[in-house]
Amino acid sequence: MAMIESKHRATSDPEARKDVLKRIKDEKVEYVLFWFTDLEGHLKSFAITPGEIETALDDGMGFDGSSITGFNAIEESDMVAIPDPDTFRLMPARPGESVVGRMICDIVRPDGTPYEGDPRFMLRKALERMQSMGFDTFNIGPELEYFLFKDNTGTETLDEGGYFAMTALDAATELRNETIQALESVGIPIEYHHHEVAPSQHEIDMRYAPALEMADATITYRLIVKEVAAKNGVYATFMPKPLFGENGSGMHTHMSLFTDGRNAFFDGDDEYNLSATGKAFIAGLLRHARELSGVFAQWVNSYKRLVPGYEAPVYVAWSQRNRSALIRIPLYKPGSEQATRAEIRCPDPACNPYLTFAALLHAGLEGIEQGYELDAPMETNLYHLTPEQRRERGIVSLPETLGEAVDELAGSELMRRALGEHIHERYVELKRKEWDDYRIQVTQWELDRYLRVL
Ligand code: GLU
Ligand code: MG
Repeated sequence: MAMIESKHRATSDPEARKDVLKRIKDEKVEYVLFWFTDLEGHLKSFAITPGEIETALDDGMGFDGSSITGFNAIEESDMVAIPDPDTFRLMPARPGESVVGRMICDIVRPDGTPYEGDPRFMLRKALERMQSMGFDTFNIGPELEYFLFKDNTGTETLDEGGYFAMTALDAATELRNETIQALESVGIPIEYHHHEVAPSQHEIDMRYAPALEMADATITYRLIVKEVAAKNGVYATFMPKPLFGENGSGMHTHMSLFTDGRNAFFDGDDEYNLSATGKAFIAGLLRHARELSGVFAQWVNSYKRLVPGYEAPVYVAWSQRNRSALIRIPLYKPGSEQATRAEIRCPDPACNPYLTFAALLHAGLEGIEQGYELDAPMETNLYHLTPEQRRERGIVSLPETLGEAVDELAGSELMRRALGEHIHERYVELKRKEWDDYRIQVTQWELDRYLRVL
């Protein structure tokens, strides 16, 4: 832990900080975890004892930023984590286990200025842009899918499952119920859960919430899913495509913009029930999808999921019902203005949710600000078109590899603004290195295919 000069750095409401202190005392909390993420969305955590908590709430806690992926180099490494009191929650515990609290932190420099390498800060900046354009809330509903395996050394599945499979086949139903209880106990309401298409694949959907809250909930969700699995002796993974020949895990993300409780995407008189704002937002997402791809699908493995034939999108188009399109407008339920939304189907659950939600919002706002036109929806199954037919219709594809995605990201002016210079530069460097590490590998597939014939 770095020694940082004591200084009042918190910007939160002092009353909220007092409430947290009281809860920590009343609930006999043994320690409080301070959380934030690195650029790739890995959860970073350190534990604070109740004796230290008051100072930590006001001043933050110093740490060495140079050891966090994508953060600062050694010469400017002192960073401070300021806990956000609104995010205080008690972690789920079985009887007899320690009482542990958690708070999510903003990262600042020792002088108290926000650190532009903090993904949570970049989401805050995106929300500021949204507010300056007259909207007050960006609601997000992500559907994270994941696999359960026997352990983390292989991909031995626990069931033969199938979409909506019932209990006899679905050995993990109990485990899913325990996971849901744990999620709800930390204030993450769950709407829907089921077995997914692939063996041992599951989905638990959170109720939509404003973007910052949802990004916090998403990193919490991932940890809780993994912890409950571990307590039950199995391994949960959000790896986008762990099994060849089976569906991968997506994070379809439902989005809408609100102002004063009204859904800015909704227009009851439109044939799709979409307002001009909603259409321009979707047009922005489509136009910039290739540039965003390195963020919402950030791993070499992400691009093994985004291939034809596994219910994952490949082509940049929108549709009302067709799941092969990148963006889907879930069919309108009469009378439910609140539910009108755009569902983007390319993100995967191993993304950094702060950067992903920031990037999606910027792309949509760009569409609104620049008045992009939305092309007609694509209602045929895009996978069944020949490459010529797709070309005729002007349909482009997502990047096919992380390397292609990084090139798009590196050249994107929008993404430079969305991520900020600091993150943009480091993130491109990080991801390029990952791609370079991968592309020089000689794989088993190549040996099997070539060794005996070449
Ligand atoms: N698992 C599929 C994907 O990779 C999505 C399947 C579904 O939710 O219908 O996106
Ligand atoms: Mg699903």
